[in-house]
Amino acid sequence: MADPKTIIMFPFMAQGHIIPFLSLSLQLEQKGYQITFINTPLNIANLRRTLPPSSAISLLQIPFSPSDHGLPPLSENTDSLPPNQIFDLLVASTALKPAFRTILNNLVESETPPLCVVADFFFGWSAAVSHEFGIFHVVFSGAGGFGLACYFSSWINLPHKNSDSGEFTLPDFPEAGKLQVTQLTPSLLAATGDDPWSEFQKKNLPAWADADGFLFNTIEKLDEIGLSYFRRKFRRPVWAIGPINSSLSLSTSGAPTRKKPGPDKEKEKETEKLFQFLNSKPPSSVLYISFGSQTTITASQMMQLAKALYKSKKSFIWVVRPPLGFDINAEFRAEEWLPEKFKTQIEDENRGVVFEKWAPQKEILSHKSVGGFMSHCGWNSVLEALSRGVPLLGWPMAAEQFYNAKMMVEIAGVCVEVARGTSFEVRSEDLREKIEEVMSEEGKGKEMRKKAVEIKMMIEEATRDEEGFRGSSVEAMDDFLQAPLLMMKKKNGTQ
Ligand code: UDP
Repeated sequence: MADPKTIIMFPFMAQGHIIPFLSLSLQLEQKGYQITFINTPLNIANLRRTLPPSSAISLLQIPFSPSDHGLPPLSENTDSLPPNQIFDLLVASTALKPAFRTILNNLVESETPPLCVVADFFFGWSAAVSHEFGIFHVVFSGAGGFGLACYFSSWINLPHKNSDSGEFTLPDFPEAGKLQVTQLTPSLLAATGDDPWSEFQKKNLPAWADADGFLFNTIEKLDEIGLSYFRRKFRRPVWAIGPINSSLSLSTSGAPTRKKPGPDKEKEKETEKLFQFLNSKPPSSVLYISFGSQTTITASQMMQLAKALYKSKKSFIWVVRPPLGFDINAEFRAEEWLPEKFKTQIEDENRGVVFEKWAPQKEILSHKSVGGFMSHCGWNSVLEALSRGVPLLGWPMAAEQFYNAKMMVEIAGVCVEVARGTSFEVRSEDLREKIEEVMSEEGKGKEMRKKAVEIKMMIEEATRDEEGFRGSSVEAMDDFLQAPLLMMKKKNGTQ
């Protein structure tokens, strides 16, 4: 019988999880695998509209009723929930277990039995369910190794509880160095060990030990410290298969007002102007500023940043969204949220572009005129910058972004941290200094740019697949795909 070729993908119901899973699915599909992508009905309906027509990914609904869990109707994605209800969706997702079991049961009986399950790190429970059917199971993280290791260790140790100074180290991850309580998300900071978040993590995180391996969207050489944490912890294979590239837009949520707008003449014109602006600038001279797909800063931080940019005399592209407290999809009111005449002045001087809502980030970062990226350090943004040799100004806001920024500063040496979160009091003078430092052609700026180019080459090497040379990410992907077959052969006694 031919080896099974079906891979089951099962992400948590959030765009930040669904998108990397979809990107990985498309990559695996290109390698000749059949993908069955499981998610709740609304997410599946939205994905159906997004999938490239050339893709044969099979989309499979897992039944889920938000109202059974006290969630508003149609709330099947963190996108459609206010921040205080996102955790409720996470808890509700554990109720998918019996339906997942039924799906696997049907699939193992089908003509295309699965080769393996690739599941979300919030679905620790899915490992044991997969094993009930003898299916190989891996956890896939769209986050990097170092970031996720700090996150994991912080949750299992809650080290901040014993730190009076506001500083601590992670007992099982001392290589991470010193951390500060300002690098913890509100849920971690409030965690006592028996609060609801801790209760969830106490079940979820230890269940990772049931997985047969871990897949990370990262590069072995860059992320050795974080990856070795998981190897040590679980004694299971950890495959660094990144960067998983995708040309997918993020507008898979189907949320009506969100994110990338459809073809729009006005936007097209603006985008054209943006690239004309970049073309008019010398190499590595433009700072690109964007805080990812869902984050924004406060109105006062926005003012300080605008002043810093103005005073720095550096050229910039700034992707703006309404500040915290306003609808992130609403029109941007420059006259209210930016200093008076800021926009017209910088445009008249050909100094900067204020770009609303959604920018073609990868294309911008690929332009030779871009020399720095002020980012919230979401892992995709970090990888996109590093793949193009662009150093960072880190302004982490949430999740493992604090640790990503730390890694970029302390390990990779390609980042200066400028602020933390939205309660950080930002001073324009500090920001200006840091912008000038990173964008400088001398000193630290030059040094960081050199390191960023070295990492770019490291990434290129990791993904190179040529006669006589296979990069580490290519090898890791093949190793991963062989692992379930080896397990089957072992079980069948053919090896
Ligand atoms: N992105 C983009 N244009 C924007 C904002 C974001 O193309 O104006 C893309 C960006 O290229 C990246 C993703 O959205 O691929 C953001 O992912 P990341 O992990 O950096 O942060 P998140 O949005 O998940 O916080």
